[in-house]
Amino acid sequence: MVVGGGSAGCALAGRLSEDPGRRVLVLEAGPAPSRPADYPDELRDVSSLAAADDGHPYNWSFATQLTDAPRRARTARGRVLGGSSAINGANHLRATRADVEAWHGWCWDDVLAAYVRGEDDHDVPGPGHGHEGPVPVERPAGELLAGLTTRVVRAAAALGVPAEPDKNGDAPPGVGLVPANVSRGVRVNAAMAYVLPHRDRRNLGVRGDSPVARILFDGGRACGVETLAGERIEAGEVVLAAGAIASPHLLALSGIGPADELREVGVPVRLDRPGVGHGWSDHPSVFLGFAYDEPLHPEAVSAQAAIHLDAATLDPDLPADPAGDLEVLLFARPFAPGGARHLMCAVQRPDSRGDAVLRSADPREAPRLRHHYLAGATDRARMRAVVRFAGDLLGSSGIAIPTAARAPDAELDAWIAAALSTSSHLCGSAAIGPATDPAAVVDPQLRVHGVQGLRVVDTSVIPTVPRRGPAATALMLGERAADLLRA
Ligand SMILES: Cc1cc2nc3c(=O)[nH]c(=O)nc-3n(C[C@H](O)[C@H](O)[C@H](O)COP(=O)(O)OP(=O)(O)OC[C@H]3O[C@@H](n4cnc5c(N)ncnc54)[C@H](O)[C@@H]3O)c2cc1C
Repeated sequence: MVVGGGSAGCALAGRLSEDPGRRVLVLEAGPAPSRPADYPDELRDVSSLAAADDGHPYNWSFATQLTDAPRRARTARGRVLGGSSAINGANHLRATRADVEAWHGWCWDDVLAAYVRGEDDHDVPGPGHGHEGPVPVERPAGELLAGLTTRVVRAAAALGVPAEPDKNGDAPPGVGLVPANVSRGVRVNAAMAYVLPHRDRRNLGVRGDSPVARILFDGGRACGVETLAGERIEAGEVVLAAGAIASPHLLALSGIGPADELREVGVPVRLDRPGVGHGWSDHPSVFLGFAYDEPLHPEAVSAQAAIHLDAATLDPDLPADPAGDLEVLLFARPFAPGGARHLMCAVQRPDSRGDAVLRSADPREAPRLRHHYLAGATDRARMRAVVRFAGDLLGSSGIAIPTAARAPDAELDAWIAAALSTSSHLCGSAAIGPATDPAAVVDPQLRVHGVQGLRVVDTSVIPTVPRRGPAATALMLGERAADLLRA
């Protein structure tokens, strides 16, 4: 049983159900369209990010606190078959080798094989790229490539940023076009790639509108789930793939989490695992807007070019990260007709760690999220460095540099604090690690420590948010988990 039909859950269910001897049931909290055409236009249309807005019915819109100042904010998550891949920017960027090599018990070669298996890369030949997988991967070209993109890529080169023409090529960080999971302007979400083409498989069940409330146990073994509607469904193995907020929430509601927090809200403690919901990381980001007049093809993706940088190359006082700890992403399309274009500036390897704490034993009440962004001086300096670099990039592109990017530290810090947002890339809320590490929740086979029959397969398990967006990595986790479950 797979709880959550999101990016990782769909990839896992699609792969596992290739074996007719194995029955797979996906329980998804949101709706489960049965054909790609049944998704609303704004979810299909890669040029739209409308479902990422607060209040969209296919978005959980979790409340969070980004910094220690009490400003209310929201973080988006998809609530539909396909999960966050159905509402996201469709940037399909692999994690770096340095990211993966830090995961206890995992190795790059296995991960690379899982990425390759999932992909159908239309631009780059093998062997490090897949061409038979279900996920189309394309970079903007021809009429889908904005003139602005070419201009910004050249400007980055003029500033000394190395070329990284294949962002999924395991090369040092630099400037390059963004690969996207898109086909003819359609955001190909994980359900479209892995599940909908196989709805006729007799061993694959998909139930939408079926939020799970808790995991059921028989002694020390997970034996099924109870839905919010009170239905009890048995399973030989339970796989949580509900995403990096809901999976640790379900563990905690089921008595697996920090014992003191569970007792506080009256949840009986099954297993004291302090790492559940704690120590996660995410990418803090700000959008630097600028005016630019260029019509864009309706099927073009918004985020067209990415620059990944080692912060120490901008400010020698910052710690070096040769794998690239800063990102500038060019959004060549305005968010609203006639609006500004943007450079999204993000810290990809922040020191800050977040927490998600149970507020109630009632599964309908979301945990209290706190990101603790920019709590440390180093993260603040990283953010200043990336915003100033983005300003220089605009200047070098012949575009007016926004005032904020030229401001002295205190003024820039105030601008960043007001503009701060989250990339919604949360990872590490039920991290891989050895059983002896209190911060770890799952072992390298993604089995929850201390119980049987229970795994977590989503970005919760990635110990630290990767240096590139995690969408491709979520799919890879589903692919890799299928190997692990079959073994
Ligand atoms: C607006 C937005 C834009 C983004 N853009 C990018 C991008 O361009 N590139 C990139 O790399 N990353 C991007 N990301 C991040 C990336 O999409 C996610 O990290 C990734 O998709 C997460 O995959 P997942 O499988 O862990 O969880 P999800 O894909 O979120 O799947 C979790 C699923 O579980 C379901 N669920 C939750 N609770 C329950 C429950 N109790 N019972 C049953 N089902 C449940 C949810 O409805 C959802 O379908 C973006 C994220 C967002 C939200």
